[in-house]
Amino acid sequence: NTPLHELDPDVAAAVDAELHRQQSTLEMIASENFAPVAVMEAQGTVLTNKYAEGYPGRRYYGGCEHVDVTEQIAIDRIKDLFGAEYANVQPHSGASANQAALFAIAQPGDTILGLDLAHGGHLTHGMRLNFSGKQFNVVAYHVDEAGLVDMAEVERLAKENRPQVIIAGWSAYPRHLDFAEFRRIADEVGAKLWVDMAHFAGLVAAGLHPNPVPYADVVTSTTHKTLGGPRGGVILARTKDFAKKLNSAVFPGFQGGPLEHVIAAKAVSFKVAASEDFKERQQRTLDGARILAERLVQDDAKAVGVDVLSGGTDVHLVLVDLRNSELDGQQAEDRLHAVGITVNRNAVPNDPRPPMVTSGLRIGTPALATRGFGAEDFREVADIIAEALKPDFDAESLKARVTALAEKHPLYPGLK
Ligand code: PLP
Repeated sequence: NTPLHELDPDVAAAVDAELHRQQSTLEMIASENFAPVAVMEAQGTVLTNKYAEGYPGRRYYGGCEHVDVTEQIAIDRIKDLFGAEYANVQPHSGASANQAALFAIAQPGDTILGLDLAHGGHLTHGMRLNFSGKQFNVVAYHVDEAGLVDMAEVERLAKENRPQVIIAGWSAYPRHLDFAEFRRIADEVGAKLWVDMAHFAGLVAAGLHPNPVPYADVVTSTTHKTLGGPRGGVILARTKDFAKKLNSAVFPGFQGGPLEHVIAAKAVSFKVAASEDFKERQQRTLDGARILAERLVQDDAKAVGVDVLSGGTDVHLVLVDLRNSELDGQQAEDRLHAVGITVNRNAVPNDPRPPMVTSGLRIGTPALATRGFGAEDFREVADIIAEALKPDFDAESLKARVTALAEKHPLYPGLK
C-alpha cells in the first residue's frame, strides 16, 4: 500500500510535472479536454483489478455483479444522451471502436468511402497504413475550394464505386456535416452509413450540433474529446439491428477483458454530459471558437498571411490557414508553445508544405471552456494568438498574458 510518490518517485515526478504543465499553460489541442476529478477518481478504483469478458449479465468470469452495475449504468446513460437503442461502452479507444464498427458492417475487401485524411478525415477512415486502408478498398472524398465537404463529389463517387460503407466524420473540419444528405446518398447506392462523431459528440449531447444517431446505421465516438470523459471509445446505433455483430466485433473480435474502471469513469462522465452545466460549457466552447475565428480573419492577421479555413467555424475548433504566411505550421506551433499555448500543426487541403511541417494549425476551445473561460477570456486568447503569429511578436509580454489567464482560471485547484 505504499503511495506512488514513495514507491516510484521517477514516475510520480513526471506526473507532477505534467499536472503543472496543464495548470500553467493554455491547452488548445482540439481533441483534448480536462476530465472532472470524479471521473479520474472512478478510473483510479479497484475496478481496474476485475476481469469481465462478456457483457453485463453474460460474463465469462465470476464476481462480476458490481462491474455489471457500472457498465449497465454507462450503457443506459449514453443511450439516453444520444437517443440510441444500442450502445457498447467497451472499446478501449476511438480507433478500437472504429475497427469493431467497420468489421461489423463490412468485410475485408469491401469498398469504403470516407473523407481524405489530408482534407480532415481520420486515420481509421482509410489511411494507407491503418487497418482501414490495408484491408478495405478506399475511395476518398474531399472538401471544395470553400473548404466545405463536396457533397456532389460524395454522390458521384458513391454512384461510381458502390461502396459498402460511407463514412461521415472528421478530425479537422470546422463545419456541420449534412447527415440527411449522407443518408440519402447511402440509401441510393445501398451503402451503410457510419458516422464517427469523436470530435463533436459533446456538442451533440448538449443539443448544440445535429445528432447523427437518427440517420446513421452505426455511430462511433471517443469519450475524451468534447464529451470530456476518460480516454476511450463507444459504439452507438439507432436500432438493435447490428447489435449482435457489433458486440461480437468488440469482444471477442478485437478485445479481451473490458477496462471496467474506465467504463465506470465513462458512466460518470455521461452523467455530467446530461447536466445543464455541461450544456453551458459547450456553449462557451462554441462561442470561444467563433471569437477566435473572427479575430484571425481581421485585417492585421490577413496582413501577415493568416487566414481561417471555410472563413469561420460552427464547432469547437478553428483551422488556421498559413499558406500565405512566412510561418509554416511547425514554426507557428513552436511560436505558440513558446508563449504557453499548446496547439497542433495540421495540413490544410492541397498543402504545399510536407506533412511533418504543414501550412496550418488546428486550434480548439473545449479544454479552456472546461477550465471556465468565457467570451472575454477567449477574446484575450484570440488576441494573444493573433499577436504571436506576427513577425514582431513579443514573447515575454504574451507569455505574461497567458500566465494571467491561467491564474484567473485555476485547473484542478485541489490537486498538487
Ligand atoms: N475518430 C476521430 C474522428 C478522431 O479524431 C480520433 C482521434 O483523434 C479517433 C477516431 C481515434 O480516437 P483514439 O485516439 O481514442 O483512438
